[in-house]
Amino acid sequence: MSITLDLSRTANPVPAATAPVNLSGLTRAGLRQALIDAGVCPAEKARMRATQIWRWIHHYGVTDFDQMSDIGKELRLALAEAFTLNRPEIVERLVSRDGTRKWLIRMGPGIEVETVYIPDVGRSGALCVSSQVGCTLNCTFCHTGTQKLVRNLTAAEIVAQVQVARDDLEEWPSPKEDRRLSNIVFMGMGEPLYNLDNVSDAIDIIADNEGIAISRRRITVSTSGVVPKIPELGERTGTMLAISLHATNDPLRDVLVPLNKKYPLDELMAAIRAYPGLGNSKRVTFEYVMLKGVNDSPDEARALCKLIAGIPAKVNLIPFNPWPGTDYECSDWAAIERFAAILNKAGYASPIRTPRGRDILAACGQLKSESEKKRASAVRKEAQDAAA
Ligand code: SAH
Ligand code: SF4
Repeated sequence: MSITLDLSRTANPVPAATAPVNLSGLTRAGLRQALIDAGVCPAEKARMRATQIWRWIHHYGVTDFDQMSDIGKELRLALAEAFTLNRPEIVERLVSRDGTRKWLIRMGPGIEVETVYIPDVGRSGALCVSSQVGCTLNCTFCHTGTQKLVRNLTAAEIVAQVQVARDDLEEWPSPKEDRRLSNIVFMGMGEPLYNLDNVSDAIDIIADNEGIAISRRRITVSTSGVVPKIPELGERTGTMLAISLHATNDPLRDVLVPLNKKYPLDELMAAIRAYPGLGNSKRVTFEYVMLKGVNDSPDEARALCKLIAGIPAKVNLIPFNPWPGTDYECSDWAAIERFAAILNKAGYASPIRTPRGRDILAACGQLKSESEKKRASAVRKEAQDAAA
């Protein structure tokens, strides 16, 4: 299924060239430069102003320049004229029985992404963010993979997902302790390493100590294995690495994750072993989706132990989430437990990811398309009703 552009809502689109820049997506250096370029403050004062504004945006979460009480009225007006701090529109908000929350966020006409907050994951709760709308890769078990890439998200749009969640969880100003949102995982829609510039800027913003302040150790970037970008991810972001492995041999991985044909397992494993800073406190997460009769045998569990031997790692076993039209099925629970036991015996922590937020379709690989479909049918019904 491909994403259909929602043309019914494009009545007054703001042309990109004239849309004011959203300051939420600028790094500290970018913010300083933007203030100078817009002529709203002289170069020698830009650093100080940028620090003040930064704290208002990323520590206090304000969306209105008028709330910046230590900035003079004239400058506040000039800022409001040149820039914006607007949040994107929330099209839908769903809360699951288990506390999972999901937001469908409209970044622009036809550009909608889903962001999911999962309580009790990581230190206290993890936010699963998207890096692209759709995906260029086409992993055969992934629903996002059946959608075309619409576009990369900007740094502002990635940061906005965190801001929307923080608004909803009432976590402004940024708390130092007892946070509900403690971890970020780039496991939503899209391949983050194909949008590394924006992902890296967004991480610089989210991790900054004088702002949202989520430590790089609590930010995990998941990739399907874009080998040449893995060292760059480590050097530029210093975040935790997750690899969507799903198979232990090339012929099977070629089918499940077709990018494997370009970057086969030996190259992938070498890049992982070289990831900067790996050790017991910085482990790689291997994600392994459990597909019945495809990759879930005890022999494959043993092959997995052999493949990752010597790498500080944990393995995340993900029960497959079926979607309409897929031929794959989720492994039986007994097979998953047998698989996990073999890994545990070899010394690898291998939690089975319990499906969360199933009642609101918030599970991995289901993001976006289901609600897109539901909304499409609702739109069709509206049209039929109107015609009747
Ligand atoms: N593109 C990146 C990150 C997003 S996908 C990547 O592939 O790593 C996040 C995780 O969900 C990946 O491990 C992916 O393989 C997994 N996933 C995708 N579809 C799934 C499904 N239907 N059931 C379970 N896991 C799925
Ligand atoms: Fe893209 Fe990740 Fe889905 Fe593969 S699993 S199609 S890389 S989102």
